[in-house]
Formats: sequence, C-alpha cells, structure tokens
Amino acid sequence: MALLLMVTAVTTLTAQTPAQPDWTKIDEETMQHFQALLRFDTTDPPGGEKPAADYLKQVLDKAGIPAQLFALEPNRPNVVARLKGSGSKRPLLLMAHTDTVNVDPKKWTHPPFSATRDGGYVYSRGTVDDKDNVVATLMTLLMIKRQNVPLDRDVIALFEAGEEGTTRVGIQFMANQHFADIDAEYCLAEGGNGSREGGQVKFISVQTLEKIPRAISMTARGVAGHGSVPLQTNSIVHLADAVAKVAKWQPPIRPNETTAAYFKRLASISTPEQAERYRNALSPDSKVSAAADEYLRANEPRHASMLRTSISPNMFTGGYRVNVIPSEATATLDVRTLPDEDPAKFLEEVQRVVNDPSVEIKYTARDVRPGGTTRLNTEAFEAIEANVTKHYKTITLPTMSTGATDMAYLRAKGIQCYGIGPAMDVEDGPKGFGAHSDQERILESELYRFVRFNYDVVMDLVRKK
Ligand SMILES: [Zn+2]
Repeated sequence: MALLLMVTAVTTLTAQTPAQPDWTKIDEETMQHFQALLRFDTTDPPGGEKPAADYLKQVLDKAGIPAQLFALEPNRPNVVARLKGSGSKRPLLLMAHTDTVNVDPKKWTHPPFSATRDGGYVYSRGTVDDKDNVVATLMTLLMIKRQNVPLDRDVIALFEAGEEGTTRVGIQFMANQHFADIDAEYCLAEGGNGSREGGQVKFISVQTLEKIPRAISMTARGVAGHGSVPLQTNSIVHLADAVAKVAKWQPPIRPNETTAAYFKRLASISTPEQAERYRNALSPDSKVSAAADEYLRANEPRHASMLRTSISPNMFTGGYRVNVIPSEATATLDVRTLPDEDPAKFLEEVQRVVNDPSVEIKYTARDVRPGGTTRLNTEAFEAIEANVTKHYKTITLPTMSTGATDMAYLRAKGIQCYGIGPAMDVEDGPKGFGAHSDQERILESELYRFVRFNYDVVMDLVRKK
C-alpha cells in the first residue's frame, strides 16, 4: 500500500513536469527527417506524395505510433496518426501538407530537392511551405510518445496531400469521407509565421480566420453593329463603366474579433504615425476611418483588404474585330468576403452600385471554400500566446488571411483552427526566397526553435493536468 502510494505520487509529479527532451539530439533528428522529406519531389501538380507519406508512416510505425494511409488516388495518400489520451478532452489535430508548388530548376543556386545546408540555411522547395510544419508535427508526436506521459486528449496528426491546388485528394477527401478520423476540438496547421527584421523577431502572426473566395461575373449585353457607327448600347462601354463603378466603390469597413485585435496589437509595436492609422481604421466614426483607409489602400493594400470584403476585377473579355461592335462582354471579379458576409445581400449591393440593367451580375463557378470562425478566448490560443512569449519574447498577432487555406474545411465543421509557422526574415521575401518563390529556404535555428515551440504548445494542450 505504501509502495503503491509512493508510485502514485511519483507518477503525479511526472505528469505535472515531464522531463525536457534532449534538445541537441532532437535538433539532429529533426534535420535528418527534414532533409529526407525535402528530398522527395512532391510538387503539385502532379502531386505524388506517396514516398513522403510512406516515409512518415514508416517512422511512426517504428516509434510505435499507429499510422494509417487514406488515399483517393493511390499515389496521393494522406497519413493519419493518433496518440491516445484519456478522452477527458476532445482531440487536438496537427495538420501539415506534404505536397509543394512547382519549381524552375534553372532559378536555383542549390538543386531544389537537395536539402543543401549552407550558411545556416536549408535550401529546398518545401522548406517553409510546408515541410517545416510536417517535421515539427512528426517530432512533436515522437517526443510525446517517448515522454510516455498521460494525456487528457488524443493527439491526431494529418499529413495531407494536395494542398497546393488539388484539395479533392487531400482535405476535401478527409473532411468529407473520413472526418471521424480527424475530428477534433482544436487544429494547428500552417498559415502563421514569425516576422524577423535585422535578425530580431518583431511579432508572431497566428492565423485565426480567413476570407472566403468567391467569383462574380458581369456580362454586358447590347446590339452588335458596324464599328463605323458608334452605339450607346455598346457592351464594352457598359461593362467598362460597371467595372469602374465597382472598383471605385469600397465595401464598408467591418472589423471582427481577429482583425480588431490584429490592428490594435500591431499599433502597439508601430511608430506613432502608423499606430494612429491602425487605430483610426477601426474607428466607428467613418470620417476618421476613411482617411486611414485611403492611406492603407494606397500603401498597405493587404491591410485594406483585411478590413472589408474585397473585390478585384481580374478578367475582362469582349470583342473580336476592330470594326465590329460586340453584343457581349464579360468581366470576372475576384471577391473575398469576410467570413460572416451574407453572399446574397452582398451581390444585391454590387448590383445596386452598378445600377445598369444591361449588365447581368451573378456569382460564377469557383472552388468555394466553406467559412467558419475561430475564437481567441480558447485554451489553444492561450497556449500559443504563452509559448510565443516563452520562445520568441514578442507579441502574438491574430491574423485573418486574405487568401484561403485548408483550415477553412475544418472551421466549417466547428474545429477551432490556428495557423502557426517558424520565424522568417522579412528581407528574404524580396530576395526571392519565400514560399512559392523562385527559391525557398529556412534558417536552421528557426526551424529548431519552431519545433520546440510546437512541442510546448501541444504539450500544454494535451498533457494531463
Ligand atoms: Zn502551404
């Protein structure tokens, strides 16, 4: 009995403070898996994530972590692994994609799948998108398994295929056909990063929301005729006028929990002049916000887009001969709605702005990702923020992406999703080393720091308390 009590006491103590992993060894192991994963050419199209998926499964199997492949197409499997917890809390999902965008080998100093280490960097396609998250997830799973500590919830890893344009074989397939295998309370995935300037991390952005991509087509119809006799019904003229009206119109500024927090926090680390603009952009007084908005639209267009549903006219077609007045002309507009925008009402608003019965305005086909929101007042966001402070000693900016990510499919099902990633030099983007750039690289030290951060966030969320 006394012995049993002692064992219980020791177990309880271990449960509260698990020993830290041997980080020097973990760094080496991280690099070894990272390089192995980078050396598989998983460019999408055509995809072909199988070698990477097989590699992950084999590493997990060897560690005693059950992993399963789910494939809509045989050479494009997704990998799901699960560490079991007590079930007192709902699972945590860690998601990362194994495919990458394409490469033009001529543009690379080091071959794009060589995973060359040079001057503190690793060079390869996928280093920051998204094999960094893949390896961080893998290492976190391995470390938790080795710690052998009781968990309050399951930890699920999803290494998905097809994120770069073929979600049909990846997240759509998993969310629609195998949701029970990935269902969770929280999800961590790509979509955030740390912003380094002059070697200093200025802030860490965590993606907590994203806009919903839609497309609107505008078709102007008029009478065809000879170009020598101008007509007031000319479809090109009506379409040009409609496009110009929409472009001049600005959908109203509508901050939400994420963007309000984003601009307030960004103001707290900006110059007084910038800070005033960020705060003014949120002002309920439309005169105050309009001046700030005007500046942002001209100088910080991504910030202007974060404030509202945005419209960008990106395609314009009509006419086929210089001497023929065409009877039809069409424009296609890229619309990114705020997650809570009512699409039908928004379309009515666009029709009202154009106010031309000869122009038909409607939504047109697009791979519409579903919407959903993520809250900031959760255990997950708290854990992320606490570990940003611990590992990066800086501020966390909750961010709404203007673009779309695979988290949209999970948010639509009620999973609270947070996009995280390693710190990157802002100077690296313009040099052509960012995600989807001519070349891609990551700082080794930031990869290691991200693994530590990732592990701590996950442990805070799953460890028995
Ligand atoms: Zn990605």
